[in-house]
Amino acid sequence: MKRIAVLGFALESNAFAPPCGRADFEQRGTYRGAEIDREARAEHPAIYSGISGFYAEMDRRYGRSGWQPVPVVHAASQPAGPVEEDYFKGLLAEFEAGLAAAGPLDGVYIAEHGGATATHTHDPDGEVFALVRRAVGPDVPVVATLDLHANVSDVMMDSVDVLVGYRTNPHVDIFERGAEAARLLEELMAGVRPTAFRVRLPLVGPSVTLLTADGHPYGDLIRLGQSKLDDRVMNVTILAGFAFADTPKNGMTVIVTTRDDPALAKRLAVELAAAGWADRGRYVPRMIGLDDAVTQALAAGADPMSPSLLFADPADNPGGGGRGNTTYILSAFLAAGVHGCIAGVFFDPALVEQAFAAGEGNGFRADLNTRETARFSDPLSWDARVVHLHDGRFVGRHGMVEGKSVDLGRTAVLALDGVTLVAISKRQQCLSSDFFEAFGIDVAGARSIVVKSRGHFRAGFQHLFPPERIREVDVPGLTSPNLANFDWQGLPRPVFPLDPDAAWAPPS
Ligand SMILES: [Zn+2]
Repeated sequence: MKRIAVLGFALESNAFAPPCGRADFEQRGTYRGAEIDREARAEHPAIYSGISGFYAEMDRRYGRSGWQPVPVVHAASQPAGPVEEDYFKGLLAEFEAGLAAAGPLDGVYIAEHGGATATHTHDPDGEVFALVRRAVGPDVPVVATLDLHANVSDVMMDSVDVLVGYRTNPHVDIFERGAEAARLLEELMAGVRPTAFRVRLPLVGPSVTLLTADGHPYGDLIRLGQSKLDDRVMNVTILAGFAFADTPKNGMTVIVTTRDDPALAKRLAVELAAAGWADRGRYVPRMIGLDDAVTQALAAGADPMSPSLLFADPADNPGGGGRGNTTYILSAFLAAGVHGCIAGVFFDPALVEQAFAAGEGNGFRADLNTRETARFSDPLSWDARVVHLHDGRFVGRHGMVEGKSVDLGRTAVLALDGVTLVAISKRQQCLSSDFFEAFGIDVAGARSIVVKSRGHFRAGFQHLFPPERIREVDVPGLTSPNLANFDWQGLPRPVFPLDPDAAWAPPS
């Protein structure tokens, strides 16, 4: 009977966003002990999909009675700022106590994000991994999954046997990577010795340039990496990292893990890093200005026969620590008289309360961002009508939320002249057309749509909006792809594309 501990900490930290703590983790998802088992095997799980994938594969390989999960704690927050030290230390203590109480273990699965920072360190993920290794000793196999926005430290490399990164952006392979972790863990438990080599490039691509569809440089590099898998090469992970974490460990990272062939791991990792570096010129964002966006939205609204357009607001992406409530695009569209437009999801619990107080069908003066204090989140006041009120819960049908339970908190659909706005009470990015359709909004019939998301929305809107009808709008925000807008403190410099003359040479 294999006994496998399951735990993890999942946060993507934006150094320019407010710190986060217990409330952020309790709201999004903290699961302990048997709750993890139950959620992992639920029909519409709310827990991190990697854990569901891990359980499904373990159940498939061993049968439910043939392995014993030892679930400890899994704590995940929406992307936010650095995690507060007190809360994080408490979580580490829970991991430690859980592992100490676990008894003898055959393996550990860590379901981590890998892009966190803390108020006391730039490497809290390294602290988690080191704690696990200390707790279980050098001989118990430990496999971790990482978001491809993870920034990898030496401690993370040294503490874990295999790091398995996502290969898709939008992330539609999280479940599959959890399943891969289960397969690799089985190999390690059977005695296979993993040998890994890591190369980090001085390349920090803005998130909008890190898509993995055909025609995108990052996807091309990941596919090149996957072409190297064979019976000696166990895993090829290429992590683009998360620029806004702003740490010395930032930089695109290639990790090749072989079955006991360190020379091959090194040769392949260097070869792939060189290919990525040679292609660095393609990691430069191409956005349109706000004036241009207004012109295009007006034209789409005026001509029902023209293709509808999707405008992304990557600078205010809650999926990257944005607050999900800046009004640059909204106020410009309202001032210009754009119509046939739907916009969301807009994080503003106070606005939602106003709408509930007004009641469905009634008009009121909508005051946006009355309680928000973050930079860029300016107030806006506009006459509105309450179209619909909802508890904000639904099961997704598209993209990253397909089959998953989603909870936006109390939600209000508001008509602001020609713009229909979805306001929510639990901050998150707009991942799919479900975020409108669940509230009775006809997405296919809209002339234009504005989404608070950097790129994950693409998987959840691709049935309606092919890439050529998507525009990324260059407005201010905590997650602006214009990296020159920020006062970087931690990034290793020079780094491309921020410093166009950044140089790299393969390790000898
Ligand atoms: Zn990510």
